[in-house]
Amino acid sequence: MRYISTRGGGAPLDFEAAMLSGLARDGGLYVPESWPTMPREEIAALAGAPYEEVAFRVMRPFIGGAFDDAEFRALIDAAYAGFGHRLRAPLAQIGEETFLLELHHGPTLAFKDVAMQLIGRLFEAALARKGERVTIVGATSGDTGSAAIEAFRGSAVADCFILYPHGRVSEVQRRQMTTPSEPNVHAIAVEGDFDACQAAVKAMFNDHDWRDRMRLAAVNSINWARVLAQAVYYFTAAIALGAPGRALSFAVPTGNFGDIYAGYVAKRMGLPVDRLIIATNRNDILHRTVETGLHEKRGVAPTSSPSMDIEVSSNFERLLFDLYGRDGAAISALMARLGGNEAGFALSPGALAALRAEFGSARFDEAEVSALIGRLHRETGQLLCPHSAIGAGAALAYPGPSVALATAHAAKFPDAVEAASGLRPALPPRMADLYERPERITVAPNDIDALKALIEGKSRA
Ligand SMILES: *Cc1c(COP(=O)(O)O)cnc(C)c1O
Repeated sequence: MRYISTRGGGAPLDFEAAMLSGLARDGGLYVPESWPTMPREEIAALAGAPYEEVAFRVMRPFIGGAFDDAEFRALIDAAYAGFGHRLRAPLAQIGEETFLLELHHGPTLAFKDVAMQLIGRLFEAALARKGERVTIVGATSGDTGSAAIEAFRGSAVADCFILYPHGRVSEVQRRQMTTPSEPNVHAIAVEGDFDACQAAVKAMFNDHDWRDRMRLAAVNSINWARVLAQAVYYFTAAIALGAPGRALSFAVPTGNFGDIYAGYVAKRMGLPVDRLIIATNRNDILHRTVETGLHEKRGVAPTSSPSMDIEVSSNFERLLFDLYGRDGAAISALMARLGGNEAGFALSPGALAALRAEFGSARFDEAEVSALIGRLHRETGQLLCPHSAIGAGAALAYPGPSVALATAHAAKFPDAVEAASGLRPALPPRMADLYERPERITVAPNDIDALKALIEGKSRA
């Protein structure tokens, strides 16, 4: 299996190279050259199989010769051994035909752990074999950073630097980043907002000399290996609920479009999926795209679901690539308009029809999210985080059987949940001492040279 850039440039790479580089040199994202498919009988045969076995079967066709079967199985087993639920991603029922897929049983209580716990181990194995090391640099609004630090803490081959906006992440998110004491992981509180953190990381990657010298690597949601690891739970959920004999819809709380795009990958592989429902908060660029065909930036407003407060949804480029018949030049032109002075672009009639054939959408403003959290708790007994509530609201509003992805544990966003429901969610027992663990907080100015100097001083690469 080889990977090509959505912008049509460069030579195809194998799985390991696509994983270790993250972003293509032409600015595009890596996608598989073709979609491997899983026949219906093979899907049916996975009924009752452990999560790890489904993970192996689903991902195996994509990794080529990067890992042999025994090694790949062992890495998968190790990745999920620390999850707080035996099923890894269990289902709960919240309506006659509506289910919740709980993706928050990992070490940092958000679905980011599902992919990050695995790619931490894939990086470790691949780099140790090559005798190389990397410096991972990333920006976070909270969940990616905590999952990355948890996945790479203690790594012998990677130093991990996470930039987060000072004072703008939840206390649980901050503590998950600042309490690991291993010397190779570093949370840096930047005196700026998330966009400032993201801009600093982009500037580091665009300084090619520095990038090569520091051996920078990216593990943000555009990394193909992360998308792939997320396709697995669409299979486990659908199979548990009757696939391939029954097709379900999935409602996905969406920010960077990584999680829902993983559902699209599962569908391309042959999993019967009725509709993929993009669920957004009031930062609704993707909902508007489905409704009107205009993909147009209007600015981001902060919400109680901060992991979805995103305007340029990076992984949407991967879907556009297919909607435009895999025409890299067309995607380059669209992306230039999104990044330039224009607010965005209109989808071609063909692309819009193709989008609407597979995707639905729903949008919830802040008052609606708060009401949803209260209503879901009263009617189902489930206390959901704001992101998960948005998914559940979209699934319940959709006709036919559907699964909502619960992307974070309520205790990761206790203030918003308490304001909506009157109940303060408790941390699971395995991390109940989070508030007592000592923190290491490094505050840095929003200044690219100062940030580079800080990272250079601490990196071992
Ligand atoms: C990251 C995140 C999302 C959005 O996922 P994308 O892959 O960026 O669309 C939704 N909910 C939570 C809790 C998250 O951490």
